[in-house]
Amino acid sequence: MRNRRAALAALASAASLALTLTACGQNSEGGSDDDKGGSDGATIGIAMPTKSSERWIADGANVVKELKAKGYKTKLVYGEDDPDQQVSQIENMITQGVDALIVAAIDNKSLNNVMQQAKDSDIPVISYDRLILGTENVDYYASFDNEKVGELQGGYILDKLGLKAGEKGPFNIELFAGSNDDNNTKYFFQGAMNVLKPYMDKGQLVVRSKQTALNQVTTLRWDGGTAQKRMDDLLTSSYRSAKVDAVLSPYDGISIGILSSLKSDGYGSASKPMPVVTGQDAEVASVKSIIAGEQTQTVYKDLRQLAKVASNMVDAVLNDKKPEVNDTKSYDNGAKVVPAYLLQPVSVDKANYQKVLVDGGYYTADDLK
Ligand code: BGC
Repeated sequence: MRNRRAALAALASAASLALTLTACGQNSEGGSDDDKGGSDGATIGIAMPTKSSERWIADGANVVKELKAKGYKTKLVYGEDDPDQQVSQIENMITQGVDALIVAAIDNKSLNNVMQQAKDSDIPVISYDRLILGTENVDYYASFDNEKVGELQGGYILDKLGLKAGEKGPFNIELFAGSNDDNNTKYFFQGAMNVLKPYMDKGQLVVRSKQTALNQVTTLRWDGGTAQKRMDDLLTSSYRSAKVDAVLSPYDGISIGILSSLKSDGYGSASKPMPVVTGQDAEVASVKSIIAGEQTQTVYKDLRQLAKVASNMVDAVLNDKKPEVNDTKSYDNGAKVVPAYLLQPVSVDKANYQKVLVDGGYYTADDLK
């Protein structure tokens, strides 16, 4: 059994069984609990990146709930977007003897040493949502189809501008990407480029700033303020005599920054309508913004399902079973291809938020008032 505490208990019970047998010279029902599933009172350490975004607060709460329902104890920590803090939080949990770890990395490359420590202590690790890179010591990966997220954002822009329906443009677009230390960033961007690039190549989509390479458009730690500042700069440098028609935004918090910048520049009126602005996570403030006609779209990822997948993975690994995976090819972390279970993201806008988010039980109608 992978669960060290249970293994120790099994050892202890084997030792006492041996003593009993020696003392009494007779058989006993004893036996180890090796084949028994369940939690055996094990504790799972959960390291989340930040409380500054609603989604990660929900992730923490959902994972705790799922694990508790299976009888596990949990330790939940947040690294406040500081990679060093996350490393020491994980070190602490290893020292405290957690039986498994679920980690959503802040900086995907900063965890190699601490993952080695986990391995040395026989603690399995599930990479949660964001893949940990450069180490063999990651057992499984629970996430969404991240490239699909970008395709949904890019595809939505094409739809809204009418390009798929035959509009010729040209339309002006600016591109934003996530944090360069998050492995998901390149998947989101790649997905969006898969669909936008052909139109950029034909001149139907024009990036007036000419900032089209991933390293020119990233947003450190997904910070909305950083994105707002960059949008201000873009509007000043490239849009004095032109209007922006669409902004590819990878995350709702970034979209909020972009929208503030656009509003300060007079967008959102009849003569200067808001561009199409995408997003991700269906955070409450952004869904409200969509309902109010400001942000145009978001990509919804059902975090309740993600928490289930990650908890099931932990439970399987600790009980010497193989977790269910549905992708064994896409996520090479540089040291190995990490077996993954990928969930499907869903595009949400004003037309379907009620059906997807409210009827789907993710939010109540009151949450969105
Ligand atoms: C997650 C996104 C989230 C972003 C910022 C990414 O790793 O996959 O859902 O929007 O981080 O928190």
